[in-house]
Amino acid sequence: MTYDAIIVGAGHKGLAAAVHLTQKGWRVAVVEEKAAPGGAVKTRELTLPGFRHDVAAMNLSMFAGSPFFQMHKEVLLKHGLAFAPVEDAFASVFRDETYLGVSKTLETTVAGIAGVSAHDAEAWKAMLARFGAEAPHIFALLGAAMPSWGAAAAVWKAFRQRGAGGLYDLLKLLTASPRDFLDAHFESDKVKAMMAAWGLHLDFAPDTAGGALFPYLECMTNQAFGMVIGLGGADTIVKAMIGAIQEKGGEVLLGARVASIDVANGAATGVTLSNGDKLEAKHVIANVHPKLVFGDLVKEQAALRDYRAGLAKFRAGPGAMMLHLALDDLPRWRAGEALRRFAYVHIAPDLAMMARLYAEAAAGLLPVEPMLVVGQPTAIDPRRAPEGKHVLWVQVRVLPAAIRGDAAGEIAGSNWDEVKDAYAERVLDLIEAHAPGLRRQILGRAVFSPLDLERENPNLIGGDSLSGSHHLDQNFFLRPVPGWSRYATPVRRLYLCGASTWPGGGTGAGSGFLLAKSLAG
Ligand SMILES: Cc1cc2nc3c(=O)[nH]c(=O)nc-3n(C[C@H](O)[C@H](O)[C@H](O)COP(=O)(O)OP(=O)(O)OC[C@H]3O[C@@H](n4cnc5c(N)ncnc54)[C@H](O)[C@@H]3O)c2cc1C
Repeated sequence: MTYDAIIVGAGHKGLAAAVHLTQKGWRVAVVEEKAAPGGAVKTRELTLPGFRHDVAAMNLSMFAGSPFFQMHKEVLLKHGLAFAPVEDAFASVFRDETYLGVSKTLETTVAGIAGVSAHDAEAWKAMLARFGAEAPHIFALLGAAMPSWGAAAAVWKAFRQRGAGGLYDLLKLLTASPRDFLDAHFESDKVKAMMAAWGLHLDFAPDTAGGALFPYLECMTNQAFGMVIGLGGADTIVKAMIGAIQEKGGEVLLGARVASIDVANGAATGVTLSNGDKLEAKHVIANVHPKLVFGDLVKEQAALRDYRAGLAKFRAGPGAMMLHLALDDLPRWRAGEALRRFAYVHIAPDLAMMARLYAEAAAGLLPVEPMLVVGQPTAIDPRRAPEGKHVLWVQVRVLPAAIRGDAAGEIAGSNWDEVKDAYAERVLDLIEAHAPGLRRQILGRAVFSPLDLERENPNLIGGDSLSGSHHLDQNFFLRPVPGWSRYATPVRRLYLCGASTWPGGGTGAGSGFLLAKSLAG
Protein backbone atom coordinates (compact mmCIF):
# COMPACT_ATOMS: atom_id res chain seq x y z
CA MET A 1 0.00 0.00 0.00
CA THR A 2 1.31 3.46 -0.91
CA TYR A 3 0.27 6.43 1.22
CA ASP A 4 -0.40 9.78 -0.39
CA ALA A 5 1.77 11.31 2.31
CA ILE A 6 3.88 10.15 5.20
CA ILE A 7 4.54 12.79 7.81
CA VAL A 8 7.66 12.24 9.87
CA GLY A 9 7.12 13.65 13.35
CA ALA A 10 3.89 14.31 15.25
CA GLY A 11 4.69 17.88 16.25
CA HIS A 12 1.62 20.07 16.04
CA LYS A 13 2.66 21.46 12.64
CA GLY A 14 3.01 17.98 11.17
CA LEU A 15 -0.36 17.09 12.67
CA ALA A 16 -1.86 20.26 11.20
CA ALA A 17 -0.62 19.17 7.77
CA ALA A 18 -2.16 15.73 8.36
CA VAL A 19 -5.51 17.21 9.42
CA HIS A 20 -5.70 19.33 6.28
CA LEU A 21 -4.59 16.54 3.94
CA THR A 22 -6.96 13.94 5.42
CA GLN A 23 -9.81 16.45 5.17
CA LYS A 24 -8.91 16.71 1.46
CA GLY A 25 -9.16 12.94 1.10
CA TRP A 26 -5.45 12.07 1.22
CA ARG A 27 -4.35 8.78 2.72
CA VAL A 28 -1.87 9.82 5.39
CA ALA A 29 0.34 8.23 8.05
CA VAL A 30 2.07 10.26 10.77
CA VAL A 31 5.13 8.51 12.18
CA GLU A 32 6.44 9.66 15.57
CA GLU A 33 9.49 8.29 17.35
CA LYS A 34 8.36 9.13 20.88
CA ALA A 35 5.66 7.25 22.74
CA ALA A 36 3.57 10.42 22.99
CA PRO A 37 2.68 12.80 20.16
CA GLY A 38 2.93 16.60 20.21
CA GLY A 39 6.67 17.35 20.14
CA ALA A 40 6.99 20.64 22.02
CA VAL A 41 3.27 20.59 22.87
CA LYS A 42 2.78 17.91 25.50
CA THR A 43 1.14 17.70 28.90
CA ARG A 44 2.22 15.13 31.50
CA GLU A 45 2.23 14.39 35.20
CA LEU A 46 5.88 15.29 35.60
CA THR A 47 6.02 15.69 39.37
CA LEU A 48 3.20 14.05 41.30
CA PRO A 49 -0.02 12.22 40.40
CA GLY A 50 -2.78 14.67 39.50
CA PHE A 51 -0.42 17.55 38.66
CA ARG A 52 -0.52 18.08 34.90
CA HIS A 53 2.37 20.10 33.50
CA ASP A 54 2.75 21.52 29.99
CA VAL A 55 6.21 20.14 29.29
CA ALA A 56 7.12 22.96 26.86
CA ALA A 57 4.53 25.26 25.22
CA MET A 58 1.77 26.57 27.47
CA ASN A 59 0.43 29.66 25.69
CA LEU A 60 -1.83 28.63 22.78
CA SER A 61 -2.80 32.09 21.55
CA MET A 62 -0.91 31.60 18.30
CA PHE A 63 -2.86 28.41 17.62
CA ALA A 64 -6.20 30.01 18.53
CA GLY A 65 -5.49 32.93 16.20
CA SER A 66 -4.14 30.84 13.33
CA PRO A 67 -5.67 30.50 9.85
CA PHE A 68 -5.40 26.71 10.39
CA PHE A 69 -7.68 26.84 13.41
CA GLN A 70 -10.06 29.18 11.63
CA MET A 71 -10.38 26.69 8.78
CA HIS A 72 -10.65 23.48 10.81
CA LYS A 73 -12.27 24.82 13.95
CA GLU A 74 -15.45 22.78 13.67
CA VAL A 75 -13.78 19.40 13.41
CA LEU A 76 -11.25 20.23 16.13
CA LEU A 77 -13.92 21.38 18.57
CA LYS A 78 -15.86 18.20 17.77
CA HIS A 79 -12.78 16.23 18.82
CA GLY A 80 -12.60 17.93 22.18
CA LEU A 81 -10.36 20.93 21.65
CA ALA A 82 -11.06 23.46 24.39
CA PHE A 83 -9.30 26.64 25.45
CA ALA A 84 -9.24 28.36 28.80
CA PRO A 85 -9.38 32.12 28.18
CA VAL A 86 -7.08 34.35 30.18
CA GLU A 87 -8.16 37.78 31.39
CA ASP A 88 -4.84 38.82 32.97
CA ALA A 89 -2.29 37.77 30.41
CA PHE A 90 1.18 38.81 31.51
CA ALA A 91 3.02 41.08 33.90
CA SER A 92 6.57 42.05 34.80
CA VAL A 93 7.87 42.46 38.34
CA PHE A 94 10.52 45.05 39.02
CA ARG A 95 13.35 45.45 41.51
CA ASP A 96 11.36 47.92 43.61
CA GLU A 97 8.63 45.28 44.10
CA THR A 98 6.08 46.88 41.85
CA TYR A 99 4.57 45.32 38.75
CA LEU A 100 2.99 46.26 35.47
CA GLY A 101 0.63 43.97 33.63
CA VAL A 102 -1.50 43.62 30.54
CA SER A 103 -5.08 42.57 31.13
CA LYS A 104 -7.73 42.15 28.49
CA THR A 105 -9.73 44.93 30.11
CA LEU A 106 -8.06 48.00 28.63
CA GLU A 107 -8.86 50.24 31.59
CA THR A 108 -6.98 47.89 33.93
CA THR A 109 -3.85 47.91 31.76
CA VAL A 110 -3.98 51.63 31.18
CA ALA A 111 -4.46 52.40 34.88
CA GLY A 112 -1.29 50.44 35.64
CA ILE A 113 0.71 52.19 32.93
CA ALA A 114 -0.65 55.59 33.95
CA GLY A 115 0.77 54.89 37.41
CA VAL A 116 4.27 55.06 35.93
CA SER A 117 3.72 57.47 33.03
CA ALA A 118 0.70 59.42 31.83
CA HIS A 119 2.45 59.82 28.48
CA ASP A 120 2.86 56.06 28.09
CA ALA A 121 -0.76 55.37 29.01
CA GLU A 122 -1.79 57.56 26.08
CA ALA A 123 0.88 56.02 23.85
CA TRP A 124 -0.42 52.52 24.69
CA LYS A 125 -3.96 53.48 23.73
CA ALA A 126 -2.75 55.12 20.52
CA MET A 127 -0.69 52.06 19.60
CA LEU A 128 -3.70 49.82 20.19
CA ALA A 129 -5.86 52.04 18.00
CA ARG A 130 -3.26 51.83 15.18
CA PHE A 131 -2.98 48.07 15.68
CA GLY A 132 -6.56 47.74 14.45
CA ALA A 133 -5.46 49.17 11.09
CA GLU A 134 -2.05 47.48 10.95
CA ALA A 135 -3.01 44.00 12.12
CA PRO A 136 -4.73 42.77 8.92
CA HIS A 137 -1.61 43.59 6.88
CA ILE A 138 0.83 42.10 9.36
CA PHE A 139 -1.15 38.88 9.79
CA ALA A 140 -1.68 38.56 6.04
CA LEU A 141 2.09 38.74 5.60
CA LEU A 142 2.85 36.32 8.44
CA GLY A 143 0.20 33.91 7.18
CA ALA A 144 1.49 33.76 3.59
CA ALA A 145 4.08 31.43 2.13
CA MET A 146 7.34 33.25 1.62
CA PRO A 147 7.89 34.37 -1.08
CA SER A 148 4.51 34.09 -2.77
CA TRP A 149 1.89 36.06 -4.61
CA GLY A 150 -0.02 36.05 -1.33
CA ALA A 151 2.85 37.82 0.44
CA ALA A 152 3.22 40.28 -2.44
CA ALA A 153 -0.53 40.92 -2.37
CA ALA A 154 -0.36 41.62 1.37
CA VAL A 155 2.34 44.24 0.80
CA TRP A 156 0.46 45.75 -2.13
CA LYS A 157 -2.73 45.97 -0.10
CA ALA A 158 -0.86 47.65 2.76
CA PHE A 159 0.47 50.21 0.25
CA ARG A 160 -2.97 50.81 -1.28
CA GLN A 161 -4.66 51.25 2.08
CA ARG A 162 -1.98 52.97 4.09
CA GLY A 163 0.23 54.63 1.50
CA ALA A 164 4.00 54.68 1.29
CA GLY A 165 4.20 56.03 4.85
CA GLY A 166 2.27 53.05 6.18
CA LEU A 167 4.53 50.67 4.30
CA TYR A 168 7.66 52.33 5.71
CA ASP A 169 6.19 52.04 9.22
CA LEU A 170 5.63 48.33 8.62
CA LEU A 171 9.17 47.89 7.31
CA LYS A 172 10.60 49.69 10.33
CA LEU A 173 8.56 47.49 12.66
CA LEU A 174 9.88 44.37 10.92
CA THR A 175 13.51 45.46 11.11
CA ALA A 176 13.85 47.59 14.28
CA SER A 177 15.39 46.37 17.52
CA PRO A 178 13.11 46.23 20.57
CA ARG A 179 14.96 49.11 22.21
CA ASP A 180 14.76 51.45 19.20
CA PHE A 181 11.09 50.69 18.72
CA LEU A 182 10.24 51.11 22.39
CA ASP A 183 12.30 54.30 22.80
CA ALA A 184 10.40 55.78 19.89
CA HIS A 185 7.04 55.27 21.60
CA PHE A 186 7.43 55.11 25.38
CA GLU A 187 9.30 56.94 28.13
CA SER A 188 8.97 54.64 31.17
CA ASP A 189 11.71 52.05 31.67
CA LYS A 190 9.12 49.77 33.25
CA VAL A 191 6.80 49.85 30.25
CA LYS A 192 9.76 49.18 27.97
CA ALA A 193 10.96 46.26 30.10
CA MET A 194 7.45 44.77 30.24
CA MET A 195 7.27 44.79 26.46
CA ALA A 196 10.90 43.90 25.65
CA ALA A 197 10.66 40.66 27.68
CA TRP A 198 8.75 39.17 24.75
CA GLY A 199 11.79 39.58 22.51
CA LEU A 200 13.61 37.06 24.68
CA HIS A 201 10.83 34.49 24.21
CA LEU A 202 12.37 34.35 20.75
CA ASP A 203 16.06 35.21 20.54
CA PHE A 204 15.89 38.96 20.42
CA ALA A 205 17.94 40.87 22.94
CA PRO A 206 16.98 44.56 23.31
CA ASP A 207 19.45 45.61 20.61
CA THR A 208 18.93 42.85 18.04
CA ALA A 209 17.56 44.07 14.71
CA GLY A 210 14.21 42.53 13.83
CA GLY A 211 13.24 42.05 17.48
CA ALA A 212 10.54 44.73 17.74
CA LEU A 213 7.80 42.79 15.97
CA PHE A 214 7.18 40.05 18.53
CA PRO A 215 6.94 42.33 21.60
CA TYR A 216 4.61 44.59 19.62
CA LEU A 217 2.39 41.72 18.47
CA GLU A 218 2.28 39.95 21.82
CA CYS A 219 1.41 43.14 23.68
CA MET A 220 -1.22 44.28 21.23
CA THR A 221 -2.84 40.87 20.66
CA ASN A 222 -2.97 40.13 24.38
CA GLN A 223 -4.53 43.54 24.91
CA ALA A 224 -6.99 43.18 22.06
CA PHE A 225 -7.92 39.50 22.33
CA GLY A 226 -6.45 38.18 25.60
CA MET A 227 -4.41 35.00 25.88
CA VAL A 228 -5.61 31.40 25.84
CA ILE A 229 -4.18 28.24 27.31
CA GLY A 230 -5.45 24.71 26.80
CA LEU A 231 -8.28 23.51 29.01
CA GLY A 232 -6.71 20.65 30.97
CA GLY A 233 -3.38 21.15 29.22
CA ALA A 234 -1.78 22.34 25.99
CA ASP A 235 -2.16 18.81 24.62
CA THR A 236 -5.84 19.54 23.97
CA ILE A 237 -4.80 20.67 20.46
CA VAL A 238 -2.78 17.51 19.87
CA LYS A 239 -5.53 15.15 21.01
CA ALA A 240 -8.12 16.94 18.88
CA MET A 241 -5.92 16.91 15.77
CA ILE A 242 -5.24 13.19 16.17
CA GLY A 243 -8.98 12.54 16.59
CA ALA A 244 -9.64 14.47 13.37
CA ILE A 245 -6.92 12.60 11.46
CA GLN A 246 -8.07 9.17 12.60
CA GLU A 247 -11.71 9.93 11.87
CA LYS A 248 -10.72 10.37 8.23
CA GLY A 249 -8.75 7.12 8.15
CA GLY A 250 -5.34 8.66 8.81
CA GLU A 251 -2.88 6.65 10.87
CA VAL A 252 -0.73 7.91 13.72
CA LEU A 253 2.11 5.53 14.55
CA LEU A 254 3.78 6.23 17.90
CA GLY A 255 7.11 4.89 19.16
CA ALA A 256 8.17 4.48 15.54
CA ARG A 257 11.43 6.19 14.67
CA VAL A 258 12.09 6.98 11.04
CA ALA A 259 15.67 5.84 10.44
CA SER A 260 15.85 6.96 6.81
CA ILE A 261 13.89 8.74 4.15
CA ASP A 262 14.12 6.57 1.06
CA VAL A 263 15.09 8.24 -2.20
CA ALA A 264 15.15 6.82 -5.73
CA ASN A 265 16.13 8.80 -8.83
CA GLY A 266 16.20 12.03 -6.84
CA ALA A 267 12.67 11.64 -5.44
CA ALA A 268 11.41 10.52 -2.03
CA THR A 269 9.62 7.18 -2.14
CA GLY A 270 8.87 6.54 1.52
CA VAL A 271 10.58 5.90 4.84
CA THR A 272 12.31 3.08 6.64
CA LEU A 273 11.65 2.73 10.36
CA SER A 274 14.34 1.79 12.85
CA ASN A 275 12.77 -1.69 13.17
CA GLY A 276 13.34 -2.19 9.42
CA ASP A 277 9.72 -1.71 8.32
CA LYS A 278 9.33 0.21 5.08
CA LEU A 279 6.41 2.52 4.30
CA GLU A 280 5.90 3.80 0.76
CA ALA A 281 4.45 7.18 -0.08
CA LYS A 282 3.95 9.62 -2.92
CA HIS A 283 5.04 12.50 -0.69
CA VAL A 284 7.19 12.60 2.44
CA ILE A 285 6.76 15.56 4.77
CA ALA A 286 9.42 15.93 7.46
CA ASN A 287 8.25 17.78 10.56
CA VAL A 288 11.87 17.39 11.60
CA HIS A 289 14.72 19.86 11.98
CA PRO A 290 16.32 20.08 8.51
CA LYS A 291 19.79 19.44 9.94
CA LEU A 292 18.51 16.08 11.17
CA VAL A 293 16.69 15.38 7.91
CA PHE A 294 19.76 15.99 5.77
CA GLY A 295 22.27 14.91 8.42
CA ASP A 296 20.73 11.57 9.38
CA LEU A 297 17.67 10.64 7.36
CA VAL A 298 18.52 11.39 3.73
CA LYS A 299 21.56 9.37 2.84
CA GLU A 300 22.08 10.74 -0.68
CA GLN A 301 25.09 13.07 -0.61
CA ALA A 302 26.53 14.43 -3.83
CA ALA A 303 23.54 16.07 -5.53
CA LEU A 304 22.68 18.01 -2.40
CA ARG A 305 26.05 19.62 -1.72
CA ASP A 306 24.88 23.26 -2.15
CA TYR A 307 21.75 22.74 -0.10
CA ARG A 308 23.69 21.03 2.67
CA ALA A 309 26.21 23.89 2.63
CA GLY A 310 23.31 26.35 3.07
CA LEU A 311 21.89 24.27 5.92
CA ALA A 312 25.26 24.14 7.67
CA LYS A 313 24.92 27.92 8.13
CA PHE A 314 21.44 27.67 9.67
CA ARG A 315 22.09 28.69 13.28
CA ALA A 316 20.30 27.56 16.41
CA GLY A 317 18.80 30.10 18.76
CA PRO A 318 19.89 30.05 22.40
CA GLY A 319 18.78 27.30 24.76
CA ALA A 320 15.92 27.22 27.22
CA MET A 321 15.40 25.34 30.44
CA MET A 322 12.13 24.35 32.10
CA LEU A 323 11.50 24.11 35.80
CA HIS A 324 8.18 22.47 36.68
CA LEU A 325 6.89 22.73 40.22
CA ALA A 326 3.97 21.12 42.02
CA LEU A 327 2.93 23.66 44.66
CA ASP A 328 0.87 23.85 47.78
CA ASP A 329 -0.19 27.36 46.81
CA LEU A 330 0.51 29.97 44.16
CA PRO A 331 3.57 32.17 44.76
CA ARG A 332 3.00 34.97 47.24
CA TRP A 333 4.26 37.83 45.13
CA ARG A 334 5.62 40.76 47.12
CA ALA A 335 4.53 43.13 44.37
CA GLY A 336 0.87 42.36 45.01
CA GLU A 337 -1.76 39.69 45.47
CA ALA A 338 -3.18 40.58 42.04
CA LEU A 339 -0.13 39.05 40.35
CA ARG A 340 -1.43 35.60 41.22
CA ARG A 341 -4.11 36.01 38.57
CA PHE A 342 -1.68 36.44 35.67
CA ALA A 343 -0.89 33.61 33.26
CA TYR A 344 2.74 34.77 32.91
CA VAL A 345 4.84 36.77 35.33
CA HIS A 346 8.11 37.87 33.74
CA ILE A 347 11.09 38.30 35.99
CA ALA A 348 13.14 40.49 33.67
CA PRO A 349 13.15 43.86 35.36
CA ASP A 350 15.11 46.03 32.93
CA LEU A 351 16.67 46.17 29.49
CA ALA A 352 20.19 46.27 30.92
CA MET A 353 19.84 42.79 32.47
CA MET A 354 18.26 41.46 29.27
CA ALA A 355 21.17 42.72 27.17
CA ARG A 356 23.70 41.39 29.70
CA LEU A 357 22.16 37.95 29.96
CA TYR A 358 21.97 37.57 26.19
CA ALA A 359 25.66 38.48 25.88
CA GLU A 360 26.56 36.03 28.65
CA ALA A 361 24.63 33.19 27.05
CA ALA A 362 26.10 33.96 23.62
CA ALA A 363 29.56 33.72 25.19
CA GLY A 364 28.72 30.28 26.57
CA LEU A 365 28.27 31.47 30.15
CA LEU A 366 25.49 30.56 32.54
CA PRO A 367 23.81 33.94 33.03
CA VAL A 368 23.97 35.53 36.47
CA GLU A 369 20.36 36.63 36.13
CA PRO A 370 18.35 34.83 33.42
CA MET A 371 14.91 35.96 32.36
CA LEU A 372 12.18 33.87 33.95
CA VAL A 373 8.75 33.35 32.49
CA VAL A 374 6.75 32.18 35.48
CA GLY A 375 3.60 30.53 34.15
CA GLN A 376 0.68 30.07 36.53
CA PRO A 377 -1.67 27.86 34.50
CA THR A 378 -3.69 26.70 37.50
CA ALA A 379 -4.61 30.32 38.22
CA ILE A 380 -6.67 30.06 35.03
CA ASP A 381 -7.40 26.34 34.79
CA PRO A 382 -7.55 24.81 38.29
CA ARG A 383 -8.30 21.33 36.92
CA ARG A 384 -4.61 20.81 36.16
CA ALA A 385 -3.87 20.08 39.83
CA PRO A 386 -5.67 18.50 42.79
CA GLU A 387 -8.09 20.85 44.53
CA GLY A 388 -6.36 23.83 46.10
CA LYS A 389 -2.96 22.85 44.71
CA HIS A 390 -1.07 24.36 41.79
CA VAL A 391 1.52 23.80 39.11
CA LEU A 392 4.14 26.37 38.18
CA TRP A 393 5.65 26.45 34.69
CA VAL A 394 8.96 28.28 34.68
CA GLN A 395 10.78 28.87 31.44
CA VAL A 396 14.36 30.05 31.83
CA ARG A 397 15.72 32.17 28.99
CA VAL A 398 18.30 32.40 27.49
CA LEU A 399 21.00 29.79 28.04
CA PRO A 400 24.04 28.42 26.25
CA ALA A 401 23.84 24.96 24.68
CA ALA A 402 27.55 24.40 25.37
CA ILE A 403 28.71 25.72 28.73
CA ARG A 404 32.07 27.49 28.96
CA GLY A 405 31.65 28.77 32.49
CA ASP A 406 29.41 30.56 34.93
CA ALA A 407 29.15 34.35 34.65
CA ALA A 408 28.64 34.42 38.43
CA GLY A 409 31.70 32.25 39.02
CA GLU A 410 29.75 29.93 41.34
CA ILE A 411 28.75 26.85 39.36
CA ALA A 412 31.46 24.50 38.13
CA GLY A 413 30.91 22.05 35.28
CA SER A 414 30.49 22.19 31.56
CA ASN A 415 27.79 19.58 31.07
CA TRP A 416 24.12 20.35 31.60
CA ASP A 417 23.58 17.04 33.42
CA GLU A 418 26.14 18.17 36.02
CA VAL A 419 24.97 21.76 36.46
CA LYS A 420 21.22 21.71 35.98
CA ASP A 421 20.28 21.22 39.62
CA ALA A 422 22.62 23.99 40.76
CA TYR A 423 21.26 26.28 38.07
CA ALA A 424 17.69 25.41 39.08
CA GLU A 425 18.60 26.64 42.58
CA ARG A 426 19.67 29.99 41.06
CA VAL A 427 16.32 30.16 39.34
CA LEU A 428 14.48 29.42 42.58
CA ASP A 429 16.50 32.12 44.37
CA LEU A 430 15.39 34.62 41.75
CA ILE A 431 11.73 33.71 42.20
CA GLU A 432 12.09 33.65 46.00
CA ALA A 433 13.43 37.21 45.88
CA HIS A 434 10.03 38.28 44.52
CA ALA A 435 7.86 35.62 46.15
CA PRO A 436 9.36 34.71 49.54
CA GLY A 437 8.53 31.28 50.90
CA LEU A 438 8.24 29.61 47.49
CA ARG A 439 10.61 26.79 48.41
CA ARG A 440 8.42 25.83 51.39
CA GLN A 441 5.43 25.52 49.02
CA ILE A 442 7.13 23.03 46.70
CA LEU A 443 5.65 19.51 46.73
CA GLY A 444 7.53 18.18 43.72
CA ARG A 445 9.79 19.39 40.94
CA ALA A 446 11.06 18.37 37.52
CA VAL A 447 13.90 20.15 35.76
CA PHE A 448 14.52 20.01 32.01
CA SER A 449 17.91 21.41 31.05
CA PRO A 450 18.50 22.40 27.40
CA LEU A 451 19.97 18.93 26.94
CA ASP A 452 16.89 17.28 28.47
CA LEU A 453 14.64 19.29 26.16
CA GLU A 454 16.59 17.93 23.19
CA ARG A 455 16.23 14.40 24.60
CA GLU A 456 12.49 15.01 24.90
CA ASN A 457 12.29 16.29 21.32
CA PRO A 458 15.28 15.98 18.96
CA ASN A 459 14.14 19.07 17.01
CA LEU A 460 15.16 21.23 20.00
CA ILE A 461 18.86 21.04 19.20
CA GLY A 462 20.83 22.37 22.18
CA GLY A 463 17.53 23.20 23.89
CA ASP A 464 16.75 25.77 21.17
CA SER A 465 13.03 26.30 21.64
CA LEU A 466 12.75 27.83 18.16
CA SER A 467 14.48 25.06 16.13
CA GLY A 468 16.58 27.78 14.50
CA SER A 469 17.26 31.41 15.34
CA HIS A 470 14.67 33.91 14.12
CA HIS A 471 17.24 36.59 13.39
CA LEU A 472 16.56 38.47 10.17
CA ASP A 473 19.23 36.71 8.11
CA GLN A 474 17.43 33.37 8.49
CA ASN A 475 13.80 34.32 8.67
CA PHE A 476 11.09 35.16 6.12
CA PHE A 477 12.19 33.93 2.66
CA LEU A 478 15.64 33.01 4.01
CA ARG A 479 14.38 30.20 6.30
CA PRO A 480 15.92 27.63 6.52
CA VAL A 481 18.02 28.03 3.36
CA PRO A 482 17.83 30.98 0.94
CA GLY A 483 15.91 29.86 -2.13
CA TRP A 484 14.23 26.99 -0.25
CA SER A 485 11.72 28.73 1.98
CA ARG A 486 8.59 27.19 0.43
CA TYR A 487 8.97 23.76 2.03
CA ALA A 488 10.30 21.93 -1.03
CA THR A 489 13.81 20.46 -0.86
CA PRO A 490 16.26 19.40 -3.57
CA VAL A 491 14.84 15.88 -3.16
CA ARG A 492 11.65 15.82 -5.20
CA ARG A 493 8.49 15.00 -3.22
CA LEU A 494 10.34 15.51 0.08
CA TYR A 495 9.04 18.54 1.94
CA LEU A 496 9.88 20.19 5.23
CA CYS A 497 7.51 21.73 7.72
CA GLY A 498 8.04 22.71 11.34
CA ALA A 499 9.53 25.51 13.36
CA SER A 500 12.72 25.58 11.27
CA THR A 501 10.71 26.72 8.27
CA TRP A 502 8.75 29.92 7.69
CA PRO A 503 6.89 31.31 9.68
CA GLY A 504 9.05 29.70 12.35
CA GLY A 505 8.48 28.61 15.94
CA GLY A 506 5.40 28.87 18.09
CA THR A 507 2.10 27.07 18.14
CA GLY A 508 0.60 28.77 15.06
CA ALA A 509 0.57 25.56 12.95
CA GLY A 510 1.75 27.80 10.08
CA SER A 511 4.19 25.80 7.99
CA GLY A 512 2.23 22.54 8.22
CA PHE A 513 -0.93 24.27 7.06
CA LEU A 514 0.73 26.34 4.31
CA LEU A 515 2.49 23.28 2.94
CA ALA A 516 -0.62 21.10 3.04
CA LYS A 517 -2.61 23.80 1.24
CA SER A 518 0.05 24.07 -1.44
CA LEU A 519 -0.13 20.30 -1.97
CA ALA A 520 -3.85 19.67 -1.74
CA GLY A 521 -5.51 23.05 -2.14
C1 LIG B 1 10.31 25.10 26.46
C2 LIG B 1 9.47 25.63 25.32
C3 LIG B 1 8.40 26.46 25.59
C4 LIG B 1 7.62 26.96 24.55
N1 LIG B 1 6.54 27.74 24.85
C5 LIG B 1 5.72 28.14 23.85
C6 LIG B 1 4.49 28.78 24.15
O1 LIG B 1 4.11 28.94 25.32
N2 LIG B 1 3.72 29.17 23.11
C7 LIG B 1 4.08 28.97 21.81
O2 LIG B 1 3.34 29.38 20.90
N3 LIG B 1 5.22 28.31 21.50
C8 LIG B 1 6.03 27.87 22.49
N4 LIG B 1 7.16 27.16 22.19
C9 LIG B 1 7.50 26.90 20.78
C10 LIG B 1 6.60 25.83 20.17
O3 LIG B 1 6.21 24.91 21.13
C11 LIG B 1 7.35 25.09 19.04
O4 LIG B 1 7.92 26.03 18.14
C12 LIG B 1 6.41 24.19 18.25
O5 LIG B 1 5.61 23.40 19.11
C13 LIG B 1 7.20 23.31 17.30
O6 LIG B 1 6.30 22.48 16.62
P1 LIG B 1 6.71 21.62 15.35
O7 LIG B 1 5.47 21.08 14.77
O8 LIG B 1 7.64 22.39 14.50
O9 LIG B 1 7.55 20.37 15.82
P2 LIG B 1 8.05 19.72 17.19
O10 LIG B 1 7.18 20.13 18.30
O11 LIG B 1 9.48 20.04 17.27
O12 LIG B 1 7.80 18.18 16.92
C14 LIG B 1 8.56 17.42 16.04
C15 LIG B 1 8.33 15.95 16.30
O13 LIG B 1 9.11 15.18 15.38
C16 LIG B 1 9.54 14.01 16.05
N5 LIG B 1 10.68 13.45 15.33
C17 LIG B 1 11.90 14.02 15.12
N6 LIG B 1 12.68 13.17 14.43
C18 LIG B 1 11.95 12.06 14.18
C19 LIG B 1 12.22 10.83 13.49
N7 LIG B 1 13.41 10.59 12.92
N8 LIG B 1 11.23 9.91 13.43
C20 LIG B 1 10.02 10.14 13.96
N9 LIG B 1 9.73 11.29 14.65
C21 LIG B 1 10.68 12.23 14.74
C22 LIG B 1 9.89 14.53 17.44
O14 LIG B 1 9.96 13.49 18.39
C23 LIG B 1 8.75 15.50 17.70
O15 LIG B 1 7.66 14.88 18.32
C24 LIG B 1 7.93 26.62 23.22
C25 LIG B 1 8.98 25.74 22.95
C26 LIG B 1 9.73 25.22 23.99
C27 LIG B 1 10.82 24.23 23.69
